[in-house]
Amino acid sequence: MLETCPRCGARLGKPLSSGRQVCSACGWSTVVVERSSPPPPTGLPLLLNQLARLIKRFFQYLGVRLQLLWRSLSSRSQQQQPRRNLWESLVRKLQHLEEKIPSGDPNREWLTPEEAFQRLGGDLNNPHSKVSSLDGKRRIGLSAFRRLVNTAEYADFGFQYSSDRHAKNLPYLRPLSRQP
Ligand SMILES: [Zn+2]
Repeated sequence: MLETCPRCGARLGKPLSSGRQVCSACGWSTVVVERSSPPPPTGLPLLLNQLARLIKRFFQYLGVRLQLLWRSLSSRSQQQQPRRNLWESLVRKLQHLEEKIPSGDPNREWLTPEEAFQRLGGDLNNPHSKVSSLDGKRRIGLSAFRRLVNTAEYADFGFQYSSDRHAKNLPYLRPLSRQP
């Protein structure tokens, strides 16, 4: 009879009527030895028993190896995820850069509204400065010029408007190519 639990070290109470001792802390219990245990096999049954145990052990081993292999494969595919994201973000940065580089012809470069305002003769430092539409019917200041949002309105001032570039926070105005 044990005084303390071999698993958790808690004090054990008296054995049950069956002779088993049970730990109330962790649930450990003694295995009751069957009094009428069958006689150990001999001869062929012993050999078959041994073979069965060997086969069982082999498949257990195989299972563990497969589990390890599977775990290493799935952890490797998880490591590739951030790398793919890295490439994607690099491509996005390069696209952004490409769109920022002037196309070559200074008359066809994309401009910020401030730059476009200056091209029309506006003065950024003078809050009363106004620019005229091409037909001279409209005169507006910088803040009104910035608030123009559609293609037709910017066209009145001789500029092409790109809502795509505006949404991407890129310069979005460029001089309309003049028809001869
Ligand atoms: Zn215990």
